[in-house]
Amino acid sequence: MNHDATAPLLALDRVGKRYGDRTALQGVSLAVAPGETVGLVGESGSGKSTLARLALGLLAPDSGTVRFAGRDPYRLRGRADRALRGRLQFVPQHPRGSLNPALRAGEAVGFALRLHGTPRAERAAAVARLFAQVGLEPALAARYPRELSGGQLQRVAVARALATGPDLLVCDEPTSALDRAAQARLLDLLTELRERTGLAYLFISHDLAVVRRLAHRVLVLRHGRVVEEGPADRLWDSPAHPYTRALLDAATGAAPPAPGLPRTTNHLTTDHI
Ligand code: ADP
Ligand code: MG
Repeated sequence: MNHDATAPLLALDRVGKRYGDRTALQGVSLAVAPGETVGLVGESGSGKSTLARLALGLLAPDSGTVRFAGRDPYRLRGRADRALRGRLQFVPQHPRGSLNPALRAGEAVGFALRLHGTPRAERAAAVARLFAQVGLEPALAARYPRELSGGQLQRVAVARALATGPDLLVCDEPTSALDRAAQARLLDLLTELRERTGLAYLFISHDLAVVRRLAHRVLVLRHGRVVEEGPADRLWDSPAHPYTRALLDAATGAAPPAPGLPRTTNHLTTDHI
């Protein structure tokens, strides 16, 4: 590609998006460099999934620009763009809903390879390699989604995303449907993949504790605007915005409330901030 290697892989510049008269995002700028993990955190309804859909080119912004490797992802449609499209992939929140129940796990990954243009003769070996890469037993390739656990399904979703050789994975709440142990294992897998392949992530969660484990840099989204951004550890140790403090409080259940703020518990109630 003729894209400058030092330029960001993904760049959103002052992006706005409305649904009818509801503003989902306003003036949001964000960049992900090659190999970088950027975390996006915010409570439900703050605009995280809208941002993911814009980054993936599933939605077009009303204002501002979105670029992946210098191109508008919303326009990456034609056959000629297949290779570039394959460099940008998605890991969903609910793998059970995103995997075809009639396809065995290996077939689902094979189908992604086929769409990407991998020749038929190479697909079985590629599926086996992808299963190994995400730590799934080869025998699980013959199972249907209903025969797999949530954690296994999420690994199939990651294998399917890796099938096209991506540079960036957009992960929208990938751990929130998993139990604690499966969550930790998935975060370990994503960390290991990143170290091995140099993958970049846009990693989205409502849980600052989860984001902190993976992200180099974090943006805090509230009501469709970025209210704070910085290195993950800095946000964790000394959040500047009261909303970030509330998220931190919700994540740890132990942090003292910010001055003048009522204590939040499991459910964020931050409209007063
Ligand atoms: P999050 O992922 O942080 O929960 P979303 O991006 O899903 O946030 O939603 C942001 C806002 O946009 C919310 O107020 C939500 O109700 C609204 N919204 C999201 N998708 C749609 C849609 N397809 N039509 C109308 N409103 C939507
Ligand atoms: Mg969402």
